[in-house]
Amino acid sequence: MSNLSRRTFIVGIAGGTGAVALAGCAASSQTAPVSSAAGESTTPSAAAREVRKMTPPRLDSAYLGKQVHCYRPMRRGAPSLTVEVDGKQVIAHNYGHGGSGWTLAPGSAAYVVDTAEQTDQVSQMPKDAPITVVGAGVIGLFTAYELVKRGYTNVTVVAEQFEGLTSHNAGGLLAPVSMDNEPEMQKIIDKIGVDAYKFYASVAKGTNPDFAKGAVIVPAYFDSREDSGLEPYVGEVMEPAKDVTLDFGNGTTRDMVVYDDGIFMDPGGMMASLRDYLESKVKFEQRKVTDFADLPSTLIFDCTGLGARELEGDSEMVSVQGHLIMLKDQVPADLQSMILVYYPKGKTASGQVVKRSFYLFPKQLPGSGPNDIGVVGGTFIEGATPETPNDEEFAIMIEGAKRFYGIN
Ligand SMILES: Cc1cc2nc3c(=O)[nH]c(=O)nc-3n(C[C@H](O)[C@H](O)[C@H](O)COP(=O)(O)OP(=O)(O)OC[C@H]3O[C@@H](n4cnc5c(N)ncnc54)[C@H](O)[C@@H]3O)c2cc1C
Repeated sequence: MSNLSRRTFIVGIAGGTGAVALAGCAASSQTAPVSSAAGESTTPSAAAREVRKMTPPRLDSAYLGKQVHCYRPMRRGAPSLTVEVDGKQVIAHNYGHGGSGWTLAPGSAAYVVDTAEQTDQVSQMPKDAPITVVGAGVIGLFTAYELVKRGYTNVTVVAEQFEGLTSHNAGGLLAPVSMDNEPEMQKIIDKIGVDAYKFYASVAKGTNPDFAKGAVIVPAYFDSREDSGLEPYVGEVMEPAKDVTLDFGNGTTRDMVVYDDGIFMDPGGMMASLRDYLESKVKFEQRKVTDFADLPSTLIFDCTGLGARELEGDSEMVSVQGHLIMLKDQVPADLQSMILVYYPKGKTASGQVVKRSFYLFPKQLPGSGPNDIGVVGGTFIEGATPETPNDEEFAIMIEGAKRFYGIN
């Protein structure tokens, strides 16, 4: 019997398990279209569009650095944000955020801690009772941060691995993409995303008391408003997108939409800052957890990402492979924006279905030189694992990036 099925479900969201929901490019002028046009009725005429000049990054092989494979922990139906009681233990799940773990992490942590605090066991628990957070990715660290901020003083983060995680490798675009949420879950996910945006905006604007850096506000360009996933944030925390034409100065232009208040979250830097913040406030233990019953805490947060498939027997969890290439020797001033456009679906050489895209964010690896800036992605290959690396996708990705800019 799976761990999931033996417990009493209390409250929260977990699409696809029968859980109850808590209410509470356009075409370019010179090159082929990148994907289907948005076709919004609000699109202004060509004459009304703002034209923005953008210098393409250097994409020849001399400027390509580290190649990275990375695996999104996607849960079909919605991330699991449920709280369950198993004997004397309360287990709060916070996993399965797919390609949006960074986008959602601070809001998701607040949501799950709120939900746990609604149970009798937790509402009556002293603030110094032992709490275990299992998992030290962005979801686990933000959950520990949320607990510390709420005054819990006896928190231990237990994880099999602390470094080289998906959370370190991620791109860093704030946008709720690459998830598989059932429609009734989307409202809660949007609310979580809006809360997370507020957190990152406070870091970017220098008003967060705990983090001086880790997020910046930069324009985020997409083919269409729909592709961005950001429309639910407009009017809540973001300004409406504008229709603009990007001019790459080489005869290629592309019609795009832009959110000038997009947020780039710096995965490597923010992971290090979270760890630094927590270092003196929580305990860290490196080991694999095989059964929550072995843990001495009454309250446990399950932030195990893809690990939940084995630990929880959660068959809705699926690995979504992504390919990334770090850029080097760039002109940093040319990389102060983010772009995401989708290409049509295809098949990898191993026969797996691949959703291809081109994205570029101003990511830097910790300790790298000032000109080693930029990450190019990316693929979305559901079910792919390290056994199917699909390495040919790296070259296809760079070809797609060059096509976007009209570079031969
Ligand atoms: C190519 C790529 C690009 C991405 N870009 C973005 C982006 O631009 N924006 C965005 O919002 N998101 C992005 N993501 C998604 C984001 O990276 C993930 O959603 C997020 O990192 C998931 O965090 P996590 O903490 O759940 O998982 P992880 O980072 O995988 O951490 C899981 C933790 O659980 C531990 N664990 C697992 N099982 C056990 C066990 N049994 N016992 C003990 N410990 C265990 C692991 O050791 C680890 O510490 C991207 C992902 C990929 C692959």
